Amino acid sequence: MFKVSVRLDDLPLRNDLRGLTPYGAPQAPLPVALNVNENTHPVPEEVADDILDSIARALREVNRYPDREFTSLREGFADYLGHGLAADHIWAANGSNEVLQHLLQAFGGPGRTAFGFAPTYSMYPLLTRATGAAYVNGTRGVDYALTPEDAAAQVDRAQPDIVFLCAPNNPTGTPLGLDVIEAVYDAAPGMVIVDEAYQEFAPRDSRSALALLPDRPRLVVSRTMSKAFAFAGARVGYLAADPAVIDALRLVRLPYHLSALTQAAATAALRHAPAMLAMVDDIVAQRDRISATLDALGYQPFESWTNFVLFSGVEDPASTWQALYDRGVLIRDVGIAHSLRVTAGTAEESTAFLDALAALGPGGGRG
Ligand SMILES: *Cc1c(COP(=O)(O)O)cnc(C)c1O
Repeated sequence: MFKVSVRLDDLPLRNDLRGLTPYGAPQAPLPVALNVNENTHPVPEEVADDILDSIARALREVNRYPDREFTSLREGFADYLGHGLAADHIWAANGSNEVLQHLLQAFGGPGRTAFGFAPTYSMYPLLTRATGAAYVNGTRGVDYALTPEDAAAQVDRAQPDIVFLCAPNNPTGTPLGLDVIEAVYDAAPGMVIVDEAYQEFAPRDSRSALALLPDRPRLVVSRTMSKAFAFAGARVGYLAADPAVIDALRLVRLPYHLSALTQAAATAALRHAPAMLAMVDDIVAQRDRISATLDALGYQPFESWTNFVLFSGVEDPASTWQALYDRGVLIRDVGIAHSLRVTAGTAEESTAFLDALAALGPGGGRG
C-alpha cells in the first residue's frame, strides 16, 4: 500500500501558497441542491440530441488536435452577444474561471495587484494569488451597492493592475450600473474585468457592459455557459474585449486548451440558445417568489438580478444551514454574518427549500 508520508506543509510549496484554502463548496448528493447557482433544469431533450450528434462527429476526428483557435465557437459567441462583436473580439476557455485565470496570467502575476469590492466572488482572490499577484479588498455601501464616486475613489487610491466588477454581484445579487463601470474604468490604471456570469437573469431592458466596449481597450466582459445556459458540467466560459486583449491571452493559454468535444458541445448548444435559455424566465419567477416568501417569513432578502437570493435575518447561519441539510436541502453559507444564499431552482425545489426553512421557525431556529 502507498502510504501518505508527508503533510502539505512539508513539501517545497511556493511560500505564497502556504496557508491558502482551496475552493470547496460542498458537493453532497442531497435531493435539493441549491448551493452553487447552477441551472437546475436539465438541457432540453431535443437540444441534447443535437449536441450528442455534434460530439459524435467530433469524436471521429479526436485522433487529431482540435482547432486551436476554436473559430466556430468564437463565431457562435459573437453572434449570441450581438453588440457588433466579431470572432476576433471573443475568447473562451474551460469555464469562466479559466478565462479569468488567463486574464490574470497575462495582466497579473508577481508584483501586481488585483482589486474587488467585497463581498464578491470568492474565486477572485484565489485565482489572483495563484498567479502570484496580491489581492486587495474594497468595500460596498448600503445593501452592497456601489456608487460611481465611491467606487472610482477606491480604485484611484488602490491603483490596481486589475479590477474585478461582478455585475450583478455574487454572492449578494446586487445590480451594477454602467455609470459605475464607466467611472471605475476612467479611474483605473489597468484592466477592468466585468464579470457578467448572471447577466441573462437581469431585467430584459437592463444594459450589458458590452455596450461600453468600443474605445475602451482595457475593458473586458466575461460570461459563462454555466448558469443561464444549464451547461455547468461542460465547463465553458468566454469573454469579449478588444482584439489586442485576445492576442495577450494567446500568450498564456495552453495549446489546444479547449478540447474538440467541448468545442463541439458548446457550438451545438449555442445554435439552440433560445431553447437553452427557455427556463430563465421560470427561474427568475422562482427567485422573486423566494424573495417574497422570505420577506413574509421575517427575513430580509436583498435585491437580486441573478438566479439566487442572499437573505439576512438568520440568527445562526451555520446551524440553519445544517438543519436544512438534515432535511435534504443544500444551500450556501457564504460567510456573511446572519445571512445565507439560496439558488432559485425549479418550482418544486424552491418550495422544498421554503417549506424546510419555514419549519425551522423564526430566524431559522436556534440550532
Ligand atoms: C458561477 C460564476 C462564474 C462561472 O464560473 P465557471 O467557471 O464558468 O463555471 C463566474 N463568475 C461568477 C461571479 C460566478 O458566480
